[in-house]
Amino acid sequence: MNLLVDTHAHVDGIEHGAASAIAAALRRAEEAGVSRVVAVGGDPEGNRMAVEAAQIYPAVCAAAGFDRHCATRTDLDHAELEQLLSCPRVAAVGETGLDYLHEPHTAPAQEALFQRMLDLAAARVLPIIVHVREAEAAMAPLLRAHAARWPGDPDRIGVIHCFTGSPEFARIALDCGFFISFSGILTFPKADNVRRAAESVPETRLLVETDTPYLAPVPHRGKPNEPAFLPQVVEKLAALKGVTLDHMAAVTTANARRLFNLT
Ligand SMILES: [Zn+2]
Repeated sequence: MNLLVDTHAHVDGIEHGAASAIAAALRRAEEAGVSRVVAVGGDPEGNRMAVEAAQIYPAVCAAAGFDRHCATRTDLDHAELEQLLSCPRVAAVGETGLDYLHEPHTAPAQEALFQRMLDLAAARVLPIIVHVREAEAAMAPLLRAHAARWPGDPDRIGVIHCFTGSPEFARIALDCGFFISFSGILTFPKADNVRRAAESVPETRLLVETDTPYLAPVPHRGKPNEPAFLPQVVEKLAALKGVTLDHMAAVTTANARRLFNLT
């Protein structure tokens, strides 16, 4: 099978970021055919661990940013984030975004922080990894404005990660040039809406991810997720699209390489 790219894993969530656990998880990933992992940050601690993993392991590249859960933190060090983004092993800004399902009370602070991350991505011409839950109406104009001023390769603007939105929102994101990434949720019995959205996304725009340590796919559901479980996501996506596993692996890997400029 073609080698896979896990475009979204929180390495600080692998047994609380224990170095030996991360090393072991990456070995299992390699054995499962997952040749590259994008280690994502989202807060000061997660950013440091993601960049550190990228510096240690050739299979890993990193993303760093501030996500909605730190929108009301007063200790965010934006200078440190800038420094991390200058590291050559950092391929994207993120994850970052809006979540009105889990944290509706901080909506204005989330929007301000997300706008700051969009500005950073544009200034540094880095793709952005976007989280969105129950906030599509607020998100859509922000994505459109970012697309209108995006100075980089149109294929490198970013990704809506762990997609759970409507086919209509997928269409808006696609029109802005974003990739759409699907996770183990695709394998969950009740996720018909997510499967419908996946069917609507052209294969040139599809990415896959585990969102480690969350959302382990069937048959690992309930266990901590890890990059080695990515093949189950690709298998499900291939079945939905009516293509072979090999084909889906090749397509999603090529897309990930393009977005994150992986060699
Ligand atoms: Zn995540």
